[in-house]
Amino acid sequence: APQRETHAFQAEINQLLSLVINSLYSHKEIFLRELVSNASDALDKLRFRAITEPELLADEPALELRLIPDEAKGTLTIEDTGIGMTHDELVKNLGTIAHSGSREFLEALAQKGQQKDMQLIGQFGVGFYSAYLVADRVEVVSRAAGKDPAAWRWTSEAKGSFTVEPAERAARGTSITLHLKEDQKEFLGEWRLRSLITQYSDYVGHPIKLQVSKTTGTGDDAKTETSLEVVNKASALWQRAKSEITDEQYQEFYKHLTHDWEAPLAWTHFKADGNTQFTGLLFVPKQPPFDLDAQQQRGVRLFVKRVFIMDRCEELVPQWLRFVRGVIDSDDLPLNVSRELLQDSQVVRAIRKHVVKKSLDLLEKLAKDKPEDYLTFWKAFGTVLKEGLATEAEQKDKLGGLLRYESSRDEGLTSLADYVGRMKEGQEAIYYVYGESRKAVADSPHLEALKQRGFEVLYMTDPVDEWAAQGLREFQGKPLVSALQADLKLQSTDEQKKEQEQQAEGLKTLTAKMKDVLQESVREVRVSDRLTDSPVCLVVPEGGSPAYLERLLQQRGR
Ligand code: ADP
Ligand code: MG
Repeated sequence: APQRETHAFQAEINQLLSLVINSLYSHKEIFLRELVSNASDALDKLRFRAITEPELLADEPALELRLIPDEAKGTLTIEDTGIGMTHDELVKNLGTIAHSGSREFLEALAQKGQQKDMQLIGQFGVGFYSAYLVADRVEVVSRAAGKDPAAWRWTSEAKGSFTVEPAERAARGTSITLHLKEDQKEFLGEWRLRSLITQYSDYVGHPIKLQVSKTTGTGDDAKTETSLEVVNKASALWQRAKSEITDEQYQEFYKHLTHDWEAPLAWTHFKADGNTQFTGLLFVPKQPPFDLDAQQQRGVRLFVKRVFIMDRCEELVPQWLRFVRGVIDSDDLPLNVSRELLQDSQVVRAIRKHVVKKSLDLLEKLAKDKPEDYLTFWKAFGTVLKEGLATEAEQKDKLGGLLRYESSRDEGLTSLADYVGRMKEGQEAIYYVYGESRKAVADSPHLEALKQRGFEVLYMTDPVDEWAAQGLREFQGKPLVSALQADLKLQSTDEQKKEQEQQAEGLKTLTAKMKDVLQESVREVRVSDRLTDSPVCLVVPEGGSPAYLERLLQQRGR
C-alpha cells in the first residue's frame, strides 16, 4: 500500500512561509478571502469541464463551498465540491512557486526593497500560504473529479516540508482544515465569519454555506444541532443590479479577479441588449503590473451564461486596451466555444466594439470628473493607449481627446483640446517636437522660431509618440506638425521676407562653402528664418524618413 511521503518545499516557498509567519501581523483575516477564492476558482473549473463531461458531476451534484468551524478541535475547515487535485497536483500546486499569486508577492517584495512596507504586503494576497497567518498546521484532503476515487492528504506545519499520504473522501473536491493558533480562535465565531464573507467574498457566484450550531435546553438536556446556512448572495456580482452593489464590493471583486492589492482606479458596469446580449464589468487598475504583457492572462475573463470559459480572452479586447481587466458574460455564444470560433465570430466582434466604446467612455469620464486620477492612469498606461492611434483609425478623435503632453508652457501635462484653446491668432497647426528627453526637446533649436511667435510646442519624449502623432494627423481640424519638419510654413510679413532674401543672398558664399565641406553628409545648406538664437540646426528634408525611424535604423546598425 502507498506510504506517507515527505517532500521539501521549494526554497522560495520557505522564504514566503517565513515571511507570512514572522512578519505579517496585520490583516490576518485575508486568509479566508484567499481560500474562498481558490475554492471558487476550483468550482468554476469544474463547471467548465462538466459542459463536455457531465459525468464529472455524478458523485456530487452540488457546486458549493462550506465553512465548518469546530470549537472542540479548534479547527476551521473550508470545503468545496470543485475540481479537486490529484496526488501530483497537490505536490506541485502546494509546494512550488509555479503559480501566480505568490510569485507576484515575492516580486513585489523585491521591488519594494527588503521588508519595507509590511502594511502594504499585509494586504497582498499570498494565496494558499496565507493559511499560515492563522494556523500552525494545515491539512488538505483532496479528490480530483473523475473516475479515480483516490484521495490524498497533504499536511504541513510550514517547517520546511510537507507530507502526502492516501486518504478517504466520499466525493470530488477539496477540504482545507486549519488548526488555528491559540490566539486566532476568533475565526471560529459565527458572526466573525459571516461578516468576513460579506466584506471580502460576497462576489463569489457559488453558495458559501456556514455551519452554525444551535444549543437548546440546559444541563443534561442540552442538545446541540448543526445546520448549513448560505451566507453570501451567491449570484455573480456582475449579474446584480448596479444599485445593489457597493463600491467596496466592486473593489473586492476586482482584487479577487486580478490579484492586485490596490483598489482599481475606475470601473464601468453595463448591460448590452442590442443584437448581442451581454453583461460587462470592466476595471482600470491604478498601477501597471510588473510586466504588462506577460500579465495578459489576467485580462478580461469570458463567461457564457454565467459559466466561466476562459481567463484571458484577447479576442474581446484590442492590444492597446490590454490594461483593462474585468468580466464579459455573453448570452449568445455557445458554451463549448473554442478559440477558433472566437476568432471569427460576429458576436465577438460586436462585443469587442462595445468594450472599446465603454472603455473609452470610462476614460473620458475619468478625465472630466477626476483629472488627478486620470493623470495617474495616463502615467501608468498612456504609452499603451497611444498605440491605438496607429491601429484603430475609427477611434482617433476619442483617443486624441485622451492624450496628455508636457509642453513649452511648462505647466505640467496638457490635453490637445486645452492646447487648441490657447492657440494664438494666426497659428494654424498644433506643433510638437519629438526627442529623447524633456531636456533635449526643450533646448532644441528647432523651437526658436515657434517660441518667438508665442506658439506653444508639445514635448513628445515617449518612443511611441512620433508614431502615434502620425497616426492622429490632426485634432479638431488642426494638423499636427513636427517642429523638425523642413517646410515649417510660418507666416512672415512681407518686410521680413524681403529681409530674409537679402540675407540669403549675402550668405550665399558661406552656405556654398559649407555644403562643400559637408559634402554627402547633408543634402542642402540653406538660410532659414526658423532660428533666432542658435546659428544652425539640422532638419529632415522633405521626403526624408522621420527622425524616429532614423534612430530606429541606427540602433539596429543599418
Ligand atoms: P493562485 O490562486 O494564485 O494560483 P494559490 O496559492 O492561492 O495561488 O493556490 C495555488 C494553486 O493551488 C492554485 O492555482 C490551484 O491550482 C491549487 N488550489 C488551491 N486551492 C485549491 C482548491 N480548493 N481546489 C483545487 N485546487 C486548489
Ligand atoms: Mg489563490
